[in-house]
Amino acid sequence: MANVTIRNLNKKYDGGFHAVKDVNLEVRDKEFMVLVGPSGCGKTTTLRMVAGLEEITSGEILIGTRVINELPPMDRDIAMVFQNYALYPHKSVHQNMAFGLQMRKYPKDEIEKRVREAAEILGIGPLLERKPRQLSGGQRQRVAVGRAIVRHPQVFLFDEPLSNLDAMLRVQMRVELKRLHERLETTAIYVTHDQVEAMTLGDRVVVMKDGWVQQVGEPLELYGKPSNKFVAGFIGSPAMNFVDVTISDSGGVLWADAEGLRLKVPPQMAGRVRAHGGKRVTLGMRPEALHLVDGSDQPEYSFATAVDVLEPLGNEILVNFRAGGAPMVARVDPGVRVKAHQSIRVALDPERVHFFDEKSGAAI
Ligand code: ATP
Repeated sequence: MANVTIRNLNKKYDGGFHAVKDVNLEVRDKEFMVLVGPSGCGKTTTLRMVAGLEEITSGEILIGTRVINELPPMDRDIAMVFQNYALYPHKSVHQNMAFGLQMRKYPKDEIEKRVREAAEILGIGPLLERKPRQLSGGQRQRVAVGRAIVRHPQVFLFDEPLSNLDAMLRVQMRVELKRLHERLETTAIYVTHDQVEAMTLGDRVVVMKDGWVQQVGEPLELYGKPSNKFVAGFIGSPAMNFVDVTISDSGGVLWADAEGLRLKVPPQMAGRVRAHGGKRVTLGMRPEALHLVDGSDQPEYSFATAVDVLEPLGNEILVNFRAGGAPMVARVDPGVRVKAHQSIRVALDPERVHFFDEKSGAAI
């Protein structure tokens, strides 16, 4: 079993900077776990501690039941794919893939078998005699993955492996990596700052910020039930709309008020929001939870505004406007007829409303 357990993991760099704070994580056997967060959130440092490339300040890392804190990287039975590929420029593709096994004194025919097998899986068989400079970015990326595959490791570690590729190739490689993981069935930990990559690749996703884990969950769980405002704003594009509102109670019905905006608190949320009566909270609405009023909408869930900018993307139109003193965007059907600066009424799907504590940001 190659589950990876991280317990109370901390990293303080020389100089005192606390980069990773009390991280606890259980990566299950064969799971594809993605660590995502903005630059500097500590995801790479966490991965490098698992790899053995960075010393652990405190805490424990286990693979299976074995604590690996003190094991040198070579003995951890993991293989890492780096952002810059780190291929040897003077070695051929074949030699690059074979090198790690040669260092570990594998028999020649076993090395040959593994290199051929990995080359076949990755479709780089015809490139085995080329040097890295004779390869495209995508092909180099495949070689870097191949070098990890031949090791038959218990755990794969990926550090932003697609970030040097152009946008189209990144999308293609993303799908290839997903297919590869299904085929190899090996535990993987993958670091990226790209939330779309995280959502497409991860069985589960860990969102980090300032060294802290914010939430761990399956992609759609993070999207539908973010545990705080940071996760809500980080996952999803365009991002969730936020507006600060004051909660008032009018004869038992709760309302969320902001400048020029009055929306009913949906009944299924009222129980939790009631404790915040008279206080300010943050109302969160995803762009697709908003649409232009079509007659059947209840007035207590809609408001008047005017179109600022339109983004006609083909499969959808993003309608930008302001409400309650905040910029907002609605994702609407491309068939909707709407013009810049036109007065509109926007309605909210009451089933898809979020509220967050104004100070802590925690979901209410
Ligand atoms: P990025 O996507 O930019 O790589 P990250 O989330 O992977 O970001 P880390 O590389 O883990 O972030 O870095 C976390 C924090 O630790 C950053 O603020 C960084 O400046 C700091 N840091 C990283 N390496 C060192 C070091 N050797 N000495 C001191 N501080 C460091």
